[in-house]
Amino acid sequence: MRKLIYALLLVGSAPAAAEEIGECRFDRDTLTFAGTPLEQATCLLRKIKLMGEKEAQKVPKVIVHLMTDAPPPSEAMKQAALAAFPQPYRDYAVLHANDPVSKTDAGVPLQYFVIHDTSEPFYGNEPFPKNLNMDWKVNAFDSYVDKTFANAPVAHIFLNRVGQIWPGHEFAEPWRATKLESRVVGPTARGRFVHIETVQPRRFLPGATNRGATYGPKPGFTPEQYRMLAALYVYVSARAGRWLIPAQHNTVDAGIKDAHDDPQNFEMKRFGKEIEKLVKAR
Ligand SMILES: [Zn+2]
Repeated sequence: MRKLIYALLLVGSAPAAAEEIGECRFDRDTLTFAGTPLEQATCLLRKIKLMGEKEAQKVPKVIVHLMTDAPPPSEAMKQAALAAFPQPYRDYAVLHANDPVSKTDAGVPLQYFVIHDTSEPFYGNEPFPKNLNMDWKVNAFDSYVDKTFANAPVAHIFLNRVGQIWPGHEFAEPWRATKLESRVVGPTARGRFVHIETVQPRRFLPGATNRGATYGPKPGFTPEQYRMLAALYVYVSARAGRWLIPAQHNTVDAGIKDAHDDPQNFEMKRFGKEIEKLVKAR
């Protein structure tokens, strides 16, 4: 009898199988995607094609190193990232350079650096502007600041095509910008992710009438945007005291209904090359 009760207790206390969310298998208890940091990055950095179709691709060598055997980010790397920033953001980043970064309400530390494209401005059936990268409307931050899209800025950072940076939320502030965080897991995930909105306009695919069927320009991003994405990644990782796992909006939400398809035309190799330059700093 005692044996039987013991057996029943064991069954009763066996943990329920953890629920995994989406293609990269996010665990809502540990707030972590499945696998080692490198396995997570490999899933989260898949190439995102039109309409959010995914394709496996090689993780840049430097990111493999950072996800496996690299020492934590150094002060010299943080300084190199700060030096890369344009003003006035540089002064702002210097001001917060030794502040802690976000964590969840339960104290789970920041872990994921999520790259987005704004999918704005939206041109519908109109052509993209001729001088896209220098276009004032494309590069203006107004709509991200003035409640056009939401009551509060939708991301931590907005990065335009000339490399200017506008901080919507300081990296210390827990903030959400994916369906995984806002619709599926909820507030307990807030603080685990930082979000970078990288300006890229969109227009309808031929014959399309809804925003789920759009495309961006090629190349998708400018050299300045890759340079700043890398600097932001090194800077916030240095503040966190360890290498964050890079991710993309679409792959974070992959498998969740109505997942956005951003970032489009993102060249992982170029992101890697820019990180490489910064992590050489001693
Ligand atoms: Zn996004």
